[in-house]
Amino acid sequence: MPRLSRDDCERLDSTDALGAFRNRFELPGGIVYLDGNSLGALPAGTRRRLDDLLREQWGNDLIRSWNRHDWIGMPRRIGAKIARLIGADDDEVIVADSTSINLFKLLAAALRLRPKRKVIVSERGNFPTDLYIIQGLISLLDQGHELRLVDADELPSALDAEVAALLLTQVDYRCGRLHDLTAMTRQARTNGILTLWDLSHSAGAMPIELNAAGADMAVGCGYKYLNGGPGAPAYLFIARRHQGDVQPAIAGWMGHAAPFEFAPDYRPAPGIERHLAGTPPVLGLAALEVGVDLLLDADLHLVREKSRRLGDLCLRLVEQECAAFGVERACPRDSALRGSQVAFRHPQGYAITQALIAKGVIGDFRAPDILRFGFAPLYLRYVDVWDAVAALHRVMRNKAWDRPEFKHKASVT
Ligand SMILES: *Cc1c(COP(=O)(O)O)cnc(C)c1O
Repeated sequence: MPRLSRDDCERLDSTDALGAFRNRFELPGGIVYLDGNSLGALPAGTRRRLDDLLREQWGNDLIRSWNRHDWIGMPRRIGAKIARLIGADDDEVIVADSTSINLFKLLAAALRLRPKRKVIVSERGNFPTDLYIIQGLISLLDQGHELRLVDADELPSALDAEVAALLLTQVDYRCGRLHDLTAMTRQARTNGILTLWDLSHSAGAMPIELNAAGADMAVGCGYKYLNGGPGAPAYLFIARRHQGDVQPAIAGWMGHAAPFEFAPDYRPAPGIERHLAGTPPVLGLAALEVGVDLLLDADLHLVREKSRRLGDLCLRLVEQECAAFGVERACPRDSALRGSQVAFRHPQGYAITQALIAKGVIGDFRAPDILRFGFAPLYLRYVDVWDAVAALHRVMRNKAWDRPEFKHKASVT
């Protein structure tokens, strides 16, 4: 293959149909940001929106804003917008709580829909909170449920008639492997198994078609590719066919059929709203809405196409520039099988990540030895990938990682 140069990357940027989106983000100068899959960048519109919210709505209109500015309708309204990103109908998604809590709520609901089955299947390498939530719920219910953890290639044979629910993350947070959501959902469905998808690492980076696949439930994160800001509220999806049958695991007043009747007894709201527990986090919702609106302006097929190209470029450049330094690919080579991230393995992964951050290239490290680079196609350029790999080359050639300050683990990696 011919060697690529920085000029080649600049040429790719000059014809990039998504190139103009970069101006709709506030990005610090001198930084290559390859961590939009962990915390999305700040949309330029968020500052205005929050400023208006603080001055006009909270500051001036005070409690009247729940009606006047429809604060109360935000979980539904923003849920309906997210529905368009994930192939759901607008009354099938609501914004609430965190991904962890939504996993708890939906898994509890799924188990009640399959009372005779006692097995939950997930992947051994799934994101830890997903596994902890399953373990915690099993112990809380104390009804003899069992977590069956398998590797991805063992999934098909694990889906038997004992299984109540299959809980999978569509894109693996470490290696970036992408599940075939449609095929896996179909297979589960054939065996009477409910699917609960975690879309945290996929929504906003690729088109997702939950209803076309026949998915039952899903959750996802607001602060990654949706650019909702640190700790943004999360969302949950329940296919309409289940909504009337699914009792909320947390019966809070915001999920009541008529919260402002202040009745002593719980009566669930008719649809997806019953999965709201408490008062909506208005500041977080407002920021999330700006990020989601921005994504709705983009064609997700173009986003996916660019994401695949950015990943391919990064793999090719690392092979070209860094092969001699023992940096090994740890993600699928085929972009059709990969989410919007790449991963490499190196025994000094943590120190290398720190040395890169010191040079303005922000990726992250995932234990035990994975260097992870995420690509948010709306604000990342092809030259950014070039600059990141050039920095990696310098770090490796000069052993710039070999300094005590780069080996000290901070509490967040
Ligand atoms: C980011 C992420 C989460 C985050 O859960 P929180 O409750 O927001 O901390 C959960 N699951 C997966 C797969 C994730 O990638």
